[in-house]
Amino acid sequence: MNEPFLLSNLVELQDLDNKIYKLIESKSNSENVLNLKTLELEYKNLSEKINEDKKELSEFFTIKEDNEKKVTSLELQINDIREKLSGTSLDPSETLNYSNQKESLKIQVDKLKLQVQNLKEKNSDQLLIMNDHENSLEDIKNQLINLSKIVKDEWDKIDSQIPVLEKEKLEFISTFPDELKVLYDNLKKRGLEVVAAYRNENQCGCCGVELTSAEIEQILESKFQQCSYCDGVVI
Ligand SMILES: [Zn+2]
Repeated sequence: MNEPFLLSNLVELQDLDNKIYKLIESKSNSENVLNLKTLELEYKNLSEKINEDKKELSEFFTIKEDNEKKVTSLELQINDIREKLSGTSLDPSETLNYSNQKESLKIQVDKLKLQVQNLKEKNSDQLLIMNDHENSLEDIKNQLINLSKIVKDEWDKIDSQIPVLEKEKLEFISTFPDELKVLYDNLKKRGLEVVAAYRNENQCGCCGVELTSAEIEQILESKFQQCSYCDGVVI
């Protein structure tokens, strides 16, 4: 067994694992994903603001809606009368009667419209603010749609890359002796950040501790060249 060569393979395996990990991480941490999260938050906050705006203007909206319904109904009545007046079968008193009714309905319509108009003016500042909020919300919504598409493409790309690396990793591991596979898995499971690394002069490449020459000698003599401080494989 050519042990030094195999031990350095642990570094390569770790690089592959890190690549896969980084790809998975980038699905939740890429710049676009973070921007998307910020936009979603802005959208939520703005929606809440608009609800507040609507609450503050609720009296205005109730009257407006109510008056609009009344106007619609009155206008239907006016049209009805207009049709009757255009007919030929009315005698003069009926014509006068309908004309008076029509005028009175028109006055009611104007009153209702004027009331809404006055309330609009009275609440114009708040209505303007709400309008601004609604425009901004629409703008954010469009940005969200566009960015979501970009992120989806990004994820699709990542999802197609991961299986390639996983396959590469499996093929690579299959060349490892069992005890090295077990060693790698155990160190990973224990949460070792760096499982295997080259020695940096007297420093352990895994944990960075400064090693004495006696300690280095001890490491090189141990079965898997493991650092006595972190258990990482030192090559
Ligand atoms: Zn170490």
